[in-house]
Amino acid sequence: MECPSCHHTGYIKVLEYTPARVSSYHIRTSSGLIPRTDTESASITYLCQRCGAYNGHSVDPDFEVPTPPTQAALRELGTWWPRQNEQVTIREDGTAVVAHRMA
Ligand SMILES: [Zn+2]
Repeated sequence: MECPSCHHTGYIKVLEYTPARVSSYHIRTSSGLIPRTDTESASITYLCQRCGAYNGHSVDPDFEVPTPPTQAALRELGTWWPRQNEQVTIREDGTAVVAHRMA
């Protein structure tokens, strides 16, 4: 899955997946009860762990949640986003610096 901001694939971590929902109900009118069906498509929210882009949108019913990047792949970047508001940078001496972004 490609990040819409940095256009890299393989760094998307899906935070929330909401499957498609169908709800059936009846509405009452002067001519009686009329059946109605509402369909809400599946949706996701996700974080690009490479550039920190946070996004959400609806997806196809057959959407498959991508495998999130491995810790090793993230470390290789030197800088990555473990969470939506948290950025980690590995310094030259090997220590990690954590920066927080206001939500
Ligand atoms: Zn990105």
